[in-house]
Amino acid sequence: MAEPTTEQLDLLLALQDTDSRIRRLEHQRDDLPEQQQLDAAEVRVAELVGEHDEVHLELDRAAAQQRQLEREIEVLVERRDAERARLYDGTVTNERELRSVEAEISSVERRISEHEDTLLEVLEQVEGLETRQADLDAALTAARDQVAELTSARDEAAKGILAELAEAAVERDRQAGELDPELLERYRTAAQRAGGVGVGRLENNTCSACRIGLSMADVGELLAGPPLTTCPECRRLLVIPE
Ligand SMILES: [Zn+2]
Repeated sequence: MAEPTTEQLDLLLALQDTDSRIRRLEHQRDDLPEQQQLDAAEVRVAELVGEHDEVHLELDRAAAQQRQLEREIEVLVERRDAERARLYDGTVTNERELRSVEAEISSVERRISEHEDTLLEVLEQVEGLETRQADLDAALTAARDQVAELTSARDEAAKGILAELAEAAVERDRQAGELDPELLERYRTAAQRAGGVGVGRLENNTCSACRIGLSMADVGELLAGPPLTTCPECRRLLVIPE
């Protein structure tokens, strides 16, 4: 194969620039700050939904406890009233029995009072949970609004990158089409082997692809050799400027 012309080598380096630009854009697209903010906002919504569900469960439990206590109080009140009625309707005349009925009434009243204290605590708990639920509802609405806003921002930002990517792809096709197919193949192979950049340029005694400084002896040899060679450090293609 004849030595590539300067035009072909310039084109090869331009193709490398375009490919590097495409890789940067692809990275940007996958790594958009808007995307990361959106991910964080979605995590926040999921956390709030979880908290909201928990509070909802606690409220259900507290409401069930409230109904249970109210029913028990009702039953106790009926029992107390029945005992009181017995006390006054004249059916109990025996002194010992009267004292026993009175004792039963105070015992039931004590239990009513205990139940009412517990009920008060449960009602306070319900009130607190309802406040928390309302706060969580508001926070969820705000977080969902934020997700919607960030979604449009992400779409908008990605749109710019996608347009640039499309433009770069057209440029790449043009450059690759003008490049000697054999040279294009050597570049493709070198890029694949290196996992990215396939060609560098000798700049200030350094290969621009691997950035490793070369010895004066290496540089002297490279300058005396062909315009396209291989970097002694990274084995990528290396363009030697005239
Ligand atoms: Zn190198």
